[in-house]
Amino acid sequence: MMKYISTRSNKMEISGAEAIIQGIAADGGLYVPKEIPKLPFKPGEMIKADYREVAKGIIGLYFDDFTEEEIEFCVNNAYDEKFDVDSVVPVVKAKEAYFLELYHGKTAAFKDMALSILPYLLTTAMKKKKEDKKICILTATSGDTGKAALEGFANVSGTEIIVFYPKEGVSKIQERQMITQEGDNTHVFSIKGNFDDAQSGVKRIFNNLEFQEKLLQRNCKLSSANSINIGRLVPQIVYYVYGYISLIKQGVIEDGVKVNVVVPTGNFGNILAAYYAKQMGLPIGKFICASNENKVLTDFINTGIYDINRDFYVTNSPSMDILISSNLERLLFHLSGSNSEEISYLMECLEKDKRYEVSEDIKSGLEEFYGDFTDVDCTNETIRSMYVQNSYLMDTHTAVAYNVYQKYLSNSKDISPTIIASTASAYKFAESVAKSIGISETEREFEYMDKIWSETNVEIPKGLQHLDTKKVIHSRCIETKDMESVIFESLM
Ligand SMILES: *Cc1c(COP(=O)(O)O)cnc(C)c1O
Repeated sequence: MMKYISTRSNKMEISGAEAIIQGIAADGGLYVPKEIPKLPFKPGEMIKADYREVAKGIIGLYFDDFTEEEIEFCVNNAYDEKFDVDSVVPVVKAKEAYFLELYHGKTAAFKDMALSILPYLLTTAMKKKKEDKKICILTATSGDTGKAALEGFANVSGTEIIVFYPKEGVSKIQERQMITQEGDNTHVFSIKGNFDDAQSGVKRIFNNLEFQEKLLQRNCKLSSANSINIGRLVPQIVYYVYGYISLIKQGVIEDGVKVNVVVPTGNFGNILAAYYAKQMGLPIGKFICASNENKVLTDFINTGIYDINRDFYVTNSPSMDILISSNLERLLFHLSGSNSEEISYLMECLEKDKRYEVSEDIKSGLEEFYGDFTDVDCTNETIRSMYVQNSYLMDTHTAVAYNVYQKYLSNSKDISPTIIASTASAYKFAESVAKSIGISETEREFEYMDKIWSETNVEIPKGLQHLDTKKVIHSRCIETKDMESVIFESLM
């Protein structure tokens, strides 16, 4: 049976269902599998399989306390017509790279890949564990997680979902998606501050046992829909395996050939899922970690020093405007040989000194990673040139990834086949994309969507249509110090 342990103390072992319900460990650490399982098949054997089949194989391995029927139920309900393409995740070639399009779900960003299934995994886990308390999902978002979590959990019985987003840190369209969310159990607040403030606030609440005790008296228990929840991470492994299988199917590679992956990175969840895929046996060469001006990860990969004593930039790839990448803790844990004492120490340093330096062992593990960054102007230029030369439309985050890939190519001359994680529809960041491809300025951000459509003929995702005329339901802006009290009010 698979066991999960905290990155900060590996004494307690719990099952997958328990780890999903808890979200984060009581000691502040993140749950990781005690041992990473091996792929249950050779990728080459799966070229006839659809996305759901691959998902069942992998998710079933990690959550082996679920029955086969339970996993099947979760997967089939998650990856259905909500996705606007049959393949769920198309792999599209543009120039020399293969774009793994992860944004064909309801909210048009890759967060749908995991958040379409998390509510099913969670409610199934609650049934298994005979959990009779209401689960309150606390979510900090840099823009995309919030909406995907709201869509996933809206009206799911036994749950309440509360989302905090940085008032000035998301695109107009992202904000509109969240504040128009329907559903009796949905609650959305903007906070004065940036994403790190929102995420730290949520983590603080998870560590506030007194507050949780008060909630328990009202029959409520907290859990998380952020990628700190292992139930978010595991479903993300699937698409790397599926992407690899697609390349075999398209005749690009033979089974066993190494591919590189490029991931536009914020909280380090997506790229960590690729790392897990490799540990499971998927032939991956380099992990190319792409950042915007908030390049704390680039510096970390190059020096082994994680240092957040630096300016914070608001960019046009807001889902990566993050300085504290939570899931890095999981990578460090694995690279340290499961040394929870070392990880606790590093995380204490981060809290106290806002920096830490990792051991030589961890540094040598980082050699599988290449880190680089790009700025707003280069991002826009990358969108433009890709569109003009190849008629392929990228969003700002994907463009950061593609630009960093160009840098990697010229530095390394490594021409291995490469998968780019394409994390959002261009329409979510319509203003930046429109201006990049030469569309003239307009007053209203929503007009950019129509203009991009007439220029490119790329379909506007269903979930983004008519957003401007939808009724605003959530409009409160709060200070981070008031997060506890609004949670309490929401659960009344
Ligand atoms: C969340 C997000 C990212 C960053 O992913 P992490 O898993 O947090 O590293 C990148 N691009 C988009 C569009 C996102 O929504």
